Amino acid sequence: MTVRTRFAPSPTGFLHIGGARTALFSWAYARKHAGQFVLRIEDTDVARSTPEAVQAILDGMNWLGLDWDEGPFYQMQRMDKYTAVINNLLDKGQAYYCYSTKDELDVLREQQMREGKKPRYDGRWRPEADKQLPAVPVGVTPVIRFKNPLSGNVVWNDLVKGQISIANEELDDLIIARADGTPTYNFCVVVDDWEMEITHVIRGDDHVNNTPRQINLLQALGATIPQYAHLSMILGDDGQKLSKRHGAVSVMQYDEDGYLPEAVLNYLARLGWAHGDDEIFSTTQFCEWFDLDHITPSAAQFNTEKLNWLNAHYIKQADLAFLATDMAKRLSAKGVVVADQVDAKAVVALYRDRANTLNQLADSIAYFYQHPEIDQSALEKHVTPEIVPALRGLFSQLETIEWTVENLHAAIERAVTSNELKFPKVAMPLRVMLTGGAQSPSIDAVMALLGKSVVLERMRRFVA
Ligand code: GLU
Repeated sequence: MTVRTRFAPSPTGFLHIGGARTALFSWAYARKHAGQFVLRIEDTDVARSTPEAVQAILDGMNWLGLDWDEGPFYQMQRMDKYTAVINNLLDKGQAYYCYSTKDELDVLREQQMREGKKPRYDGRWRPEADKQLPAVPVGVTPVIRFKNPLSGNVVWNDLVKGQISIANEELDDLIIARADGTPTYNFCVVVDDWEMEITHVIRGDDHVNNTPRQINLLQALGATIPQYAHLSMILGDDGQKLSKRHGAVSVMQYDEDGYLPEAVLNYLARLGWAHGDDEIFSTTQFCEWFDLDHITPSAAQFNTEKLNWLNAHYIKQADLAFLATDMAKRLSAKGVVVADQVDAKAVVALYRDRANTLNQLADSIAYFYQHPEIDQSALEKHVTPEIVPALRGLFSQLETIEWTVENLHAAIERAVTSNELKFPKVAMPLRVMLTGGAQSPSIDAVMALLGKSVVLERMRRFVA
């Protein structure tokens, strides 16, 4: 058997974190088993589906590197298929027309509720042997209902949740086509999973309730029932259902916020799945390790700190040329003119150990390209009148030296010793004058990269 999984988003918004994790798990399962991964766009809710949302989903998948082998298939382009299957079910007596009006069904529901019963369609139009059906009313366009089995249980061994059993008595006859002839959601899913020969349906557990209905339909169609794995939901940092309130929930927002896709993927992989204590692993490694046995049935909780930690790790490992290009993009977006007289790769190398996100990295190196805003309290604290003479001496040395890290270091050392100071007494004011604040990597390295003219220009303001 070739494993075939699918990701079947409804294009009603961006690709959110929960959807991305579902996609990742489905994708990884197919990759692990050398199977196929199908992308299917469930766009039958025409009122809420938009081409922008389709694009946002494709962008999100591409950004994460979740490539699909087949599709994207669009359900709206498969209407003929669904109609054919519906007609077939009608022909075989497994589906029937139901002429109950909305008003009638409302009355029925109210009556059932009054009697303390669960509201459900009572099968009044369901054909049975020896049953007299009501006369077909004039002017009512019927819906089509599926003849759900009346007794027995639908049982499946959910690969995450374990065995689930639902009594058919709990399920009524599902509408598979609306009065206007359009097929309904559960029906399209079934036809597609069948036609696309999906072997493993990995999806969010908000669909658990649909599964028994889908299994009954698949059975009626003579289809092989796929295996189901229902993933628990993802909660926010605060234990509440993940929502916009928690900040970035769209995958592409993470891109904008300065996260690397490999960090997000690694992070998502651990949301509800574990391989021992392993926290940091590549996507390739994940595909080798991934299985459905180690998915936890309980809800996973989002942890921004952990995502930041992973992102910091991947920023440290990233290719310098890639980071330099990324920085140019982010800085330009902030209106910083990125000149190429700065050795961007060296600048990034100097700073990348300090950043949780690419945006932080960009902020921390912006002063290489534009005059920094000087932190006034740091200025008052470090550039004191007592230290200015020493800085002045250093300034004139700097004017003459050949511009290397070693020479810069030696020049600072000379300023320190000849004025009987401690190293930070000179290094800190240099930081403030050159970078705007009191924190930076080794100041001689910073000066070397800033270049002579910029260093002298920025110092001159304070010491000349
Ligand atoms: N279209 C459904 C959704 O976006 C998923 C259906 C499924 O995976 O079966 O929630």
